Amino acid sequence: MSATSHLDRIPSESTSHSDQSLTTSIPPLLGASLAQLTQWVQQQGQPAYRGRQLHSWIYQKGARSLKEISVLPKQWREAVADVSLGRSSLHYRLEAADGTVKYLLRLADDQIIETVGIPTAKRLTVCVSSQVGCPMACDFCATGKGGFTRNLAHHEIVDQVLTVQEDFGQRVSNVVFMGMGEPLLNLDAVVRAVKSINQDVGIGMRSLTISTVGVPHRIRQLAEHQLQATFAISLHASNQKLREQLIPSAKHYSLKALLADCREYVQLTNRRVTFEYILLAGLNDLPEHALELAKHLRGFQSHVNLIPYNPISEVDYQRPSSQRIQAFVDALKQHNIAVSVRRSRGLEKDAACGQLRSSLGV
Ligand code: SAH
Repeated sequence: MSATSHLDRIPSESTSHSDQSLTTSIPPLLGASLAQLTQWVQQQGQPAYRGRQLHSWIYQKGARSLKEISVLPKQWREAVADVSLGRSSLHYRLEAADGTVKYLLRLADDQIIETVGIPTAKRLTVCVSSQVGCPMACDFCATGKGGFTRNLAHHEIVDQVLTVQEDFGQRVSNVVFMGMGEPLLNLDAVVRAVKSINQDVGIGMRSLTISTVGVPHRIRQLAEHQLQATFAISLHASNQKLREQLIPSAKHYSLKALLADCREYVQLTNRRVTFEYILLAGLNDLPEHALELAKHLRGFQSHVNLIPYNPISEVDYQRPSSQRIQAFVDALKQHNIAVSVRRSRGLEKDAACGQLRSSLGV
């Protein structure tokens, strides 16, 4: 994707306000910063403070069209009525017994993506998609089974956060890039979305998590952005052979190279790395795997997040018993590895990790 800024494609001051054909070529306003919105309103002959009004209606009030922003002059609103804010429409909403809500959102080109809202006592976490589908084809993940369609634009990522915020009537506290897609294959849009979610929506950088299965050269590129976000690697295996079996792209990116890039990430950003590890019964959950994993992570500023496998229909992996999970935790702890177990949310509605696809699965 090009790094063209939002303003590069916004018409210059010399363009006539009444020329409707020009307004239709303007990209959606969602994802634009306060400075960019201010510049845009000024180009339209409006005073600078209208930029702040627009910003607050888009990001705080969750406006879906310019038409409804009643503080803006009616005549001007009509003149720019064709400019889209870039909001998706709700295609389907499914609520699990634990309060987790899965949304199927329809984009401007009728593509469907999934977003999940996960409430806890103190938090509201949104799990956002970064692509329509995913090309990585990890064997245990439902999204990969459906193939890849396209990257999301940054406003389509920001929209997911606003959609969940609006539906819950509550401020979102955390955002995790763990929905459909591989964020590092859409790095430009993901970084722009992270900055907008932080600066425009107002969610703290440290409450944002980017999760990746690993793409050669991209970890360094991400590190260079110096985001204070949490960085998570989907490791899932303690040796190269097992990893290749689960994750086809691992053939082109060895575990050794991936871990070396993670070490470099820690050095460059001074942030620790989280390693996600799906537990698949009998396959990667044995004591020897815990030992192997502990060896790789010795002296590494990291944290292991174990994810008991969430079933998908295409493959017959099994989730380990709770005793097996606890034994794996204990083995890691014995080697002084910081470890936690992710609680599966929204499981019966296929809204948990790895269960997302662009259909209802029925
Ligand atoms: N492509 C990115 C982000 C999407 S997946 C990545 O791989 O990190 C988000 C997390 O859910 C990843 O750790 C992923 O490996 C995990 N996941 C995928 N399928 C799963 C399943 N069936 N059960 C549990 N976790 C799964």
